[in-house]
Amino acid sequence: MADERKALIAAACHFYQRGWMVGTAGNLSARSANGGFWITASGRHKGELDELDFIRLDLDGMVLEAPDVAARPSAETSIHQAIYRCFPEAGAIYHVHSVEANVVSHWAADGRLRLPALEMLKGLGRWEAEPAVDLPVFENLPHVPDIARRIEAQLQEAPPAVPALLIHLHGATVWGPSPRAALHHTELLEYIFRFMVTARMAGLGGTQ
Ligand SMILES: [Zn+2]
Repeated sequence: MADERKALIAAACHFYQRGWMVGTAGNLSARSANGGFWITASGRHKGELDELDFIRLDLDGMVLEAPDVAARPSAETSIHQAIYRCFPEAGAIYHVHSVEANVVSHWAADGRLRLPALEMLKGLGRWEAEPAVDLPVFENLPHVPDIARRIEAQLQEAPPAVPALLIHLHGATVWGPSPRAALHHTELLEYIFRFMVTARMAGLGGTQ
């Protein structure tokens, strides 16, 4: 297997070991050199993926390649389509369900979560001193395409300050120009979430 699935399998394993993709939760995708994007199939364990656990789709969701005929695309495929359509430079998208992402989603106001001005923001593309970065936070609607529609409409209007978004009490979605960049961005954002939870537990003020 010499395609993008290899990087996605390695990333899923990495996230699974950190408890961010327990069981079948979460999904990963990467644009394919052959067109469209590979995405994890629905209901597959993220610690044990192989090349049969992916489907290649075009940006409208049409199946281009399905190595396992029984596989169905991730239930959250529409969110990946929305992000690829908004950001031609996005090469990979990772969606993880960490405990910290869900805790910090409680602290959002007016659909935004202010991130602390940590050094880590440089890795997410914010190099200015004390950056004021708001992460967009979306309601977790029962019908995923409804969330995807809201994401696409809002991100087209106002691209986020960092390549990421949060869904309330659900998880984070992070992207980057390559699978490697998306992995780094996911780790950095999750570090920031852990810092926010830890800082609040320690009673530190001025961290959000
Ligand atoms: Zn999810």
